Amino acid sequence: MTESVCRTCHIIASGTSCPICGSTSFSTEWNGYVVIVDASRSEIAKKLNISLPGKYALKVR
Ligand SMILES: [Zn+2]
Repeated sequence: MTESVCRTCHIIASGTSCPICGSTSFSTEWNGYVVIVDASRSEIAKKLNISLPGKYALKVR
């Protein structure tokens, strides 16, 4: 099963629209992911501009 990633905020989602930004532009070509539990305490979240917890792709094509 291929998971889709929102091109805008990079969250990994299975629906047809992004639960965070509402975008319907998804990509199935992505590499690596990071799970953000506490965005305010995560250095990775700051680097990726993530403010909400979730599973995010590192590279999206
Ligand atoms: Zn999004």
